[in-house]
Amino acid sequence: MFEALKERFENVLASLKGKGKLTAEDVGVALREVRRALLEADVNYKVVKDLVEAIKARATGASVLNSITPGQQVAAIMYEELITIMGRDPAPITISPKPPTVFMMVGLQGAGKTTAAVKLARRMSKSHKPLVVACDLRRPAAVEQLRVLAEKAGVAFFGPEPGESDPLAVAKKSLPYAEDHLCDLILLDTAGRLQLDDDLMAELEAMKRDIPPYEILLVVDSMTGQEAVEVSRVFNERLGLSGVILTKMDGDARGGPALATKAAAGVPVKLVGTGERIEDLEVFDAKRMASRIMGMGDMMGLMEKLERSTTEFDAERVAESLKKNRFTMDDLLLHLQQLKKLGPLDKVLEMLPMPGASKALKGANLDVSRLKYSEAIIQSMTKKERRNPEIIKGSRRRRIAQGSGTSVQMVNQVLAQYDQMKTVMKSIGKMNPKSFKMAGALKNLFK
Ligand code: GDP
Repeated sequence: MFEALKERFENVLASLKGKGKLTAEDVGVALREVRRALLEADVNYKVVKDLVEAIKARATGASVLNSITPGQQVAAIMYEELITIMGRDPAPITISPKPPTVFMMVGLQGAGKTTAAVKLARRMSKSHKPLVVACDLRRPAAVEQLRVLAEKAGVAFFGPEPGESDPLAVAKKSLPYAEDHLCDLILLDTAGRLQLDDDLMAELEAMKRDIPPYEILLVVDSMTGQEAVEVSRVFNERLGLSGVILTKMDGDARGGPALATKAAAGVPVKLVGTGERIEDLEVFDAKRMASRIMGMGDMMGLMEKLERSTTEFDAERVAESLKKNRFTMDDLLLHLQQLKKLGPLDKVLEMLPMPGASKALKGANLDVSRLKYSEAIIQSMTKKERRNPEIIKGSRRRRIAQGSGTSVQMVNQVLAQYDQMKTVMKSIGKMNPKSFKMAGALKNLFK
């Protein structure tokens, strides 16, 4: 996601990093780069201008804190301002106090509207009983596509009778159907067009009038850049949108729509589609997005993932050992086991805060099966060795290699991993949102 933009920002930050003091010129050069990076990412010109000005005003006026370097301070200001333009307050999907809640899904053809309707229905099915309704009767395959996707997702479906051609009639009939089937959430998948046209808007306006929706969600393809923002603006003017769903953020999306939709079209981005699978839908979070863009990694996302994928994550114990500044081999073993559960390492690594890491890790061996050997090596150590890895010298290394069916070289690697992890854990203990300290140490961990 946003690889090019991320790389540009990483370079800007790296150029500021070593400086003990920032001159107005340093800030000027950095901001020119930031501006260029944002324009290349297809962010709306006016949004870029406002953003750069806001950063400049704060960066030159700010008194430098003792705890961080001036470069880090500029990074922190940039981070804050990015969040501000994307919308600091989260914009959650809302549910009517008077059921059924109706959501109208609108958008241009091919944007991912049908897919998003089912993704959202599935997401909501944890606490509701959603019904997806096929109101796109112009594209012959659309009804069938929605029916198949809904079935796959285990979500209730309602569609037209054979020969029915009035989408408004289908939408109206879905209300008693929902009541009969105890569905409290109705998602209307409306028709799309290849481009904005008056006919489509009129049809949607009529539907809005007859079946007042609680949310009108516009689905836009983030790969279309500034056009996506323009589409959002026009739809918002005609229909009054409650939110935008940006799809295909997993592809080559350059970042423009994610950054500018709120500021340039006046609508918050509520959700993002990150893949073709039904579960690939995330809540849009400006903080998380800013972290990703700035290469600080998606720490929050990683933490959430950790929580979700482990039931027995021994956070308390790790915290305790950190407090005592003791990180043992047993702790490393625990971490490796957690990592194994997290799934593909490259996805996990993308979320870690490592400026420059996306580049450094390209082509690195991220084979989860290697963790197996590290585990075997630690398990071949005695209790005493695990607690005090410093004592593991030549003969002990040979014994451990033999015991685990590996080589002395691999034992050395695990010991080096341990040293690095120890440093990382120390940094996590001290970490604050503005800190980049973990970065370097994490870089080599999985090579
Ligand atoms: P509609 O015409 O707006 O209803 O669009 P569809 O829901 O049929 O989606 C068009 C294409 O985009 C399909 O091939 C989807 O699988 C694909 N698609 C939708 N959302 C995403 C996404 O978030 N990521 C990716 N990679 N593909 C998506």
